[in-house]
This record gives sequence, C-alpha cells and structure tokens, in this order.
Amino acid sequence: MIRFPTKSEQREQRWSGLNIAQADGLECVMCETNYLHPSVPDPAVPHVPVGISTDTGSQVFACAGICAALAWPD
Ligand SMILES: [Zn+2]
Repeated sequence: MIRFPTKSEQREQRWSGLNIAQADGLECVMCETNYLHPSVPDPAVPHVPVGISTDTGSQVFACAGICAALAWPD
C-alpha cells in the first residue's frame, strides 16, 4: 500500500546529488523523465512535489505513482 506524504513532509524532504534538470524540478528525481520534453507517449506526465533540492533550493518532483512511492522510504 502506497503511503502518501503529508504536506509538511513534502516541503521538508531534502534531495542532494540530483542532476541539473532534476534539481530545477524539470525531471523526475527517480526515473529522470523530463516533464517538459517527455520521451514517453503521454506528454502530460502527472507528477507531484517530493521536496527541495539542497543544491538549488528549488522544489523537485517525481512521477505520480510508483516514482513518488519510491521517493518516500518508510
Ligand atoms: Zn518518474
């Protein structure tokens, strides 16, 4: 069962070691899907905020579903 993070957890999660696009919130932090220019058939990849990059201070995202679940270790 997927556990969904609370709003405060979403803001507090910190991410380091991301690539430039991930750290700018342009790519999934888990699978590196590019949200602006996706290579997958569906051009509108649903994604959710999963925290903040420690490098840029920008909000970062993961695909809604399995990537978002993987971004949230228990
Ligand atoms: Zn993803």
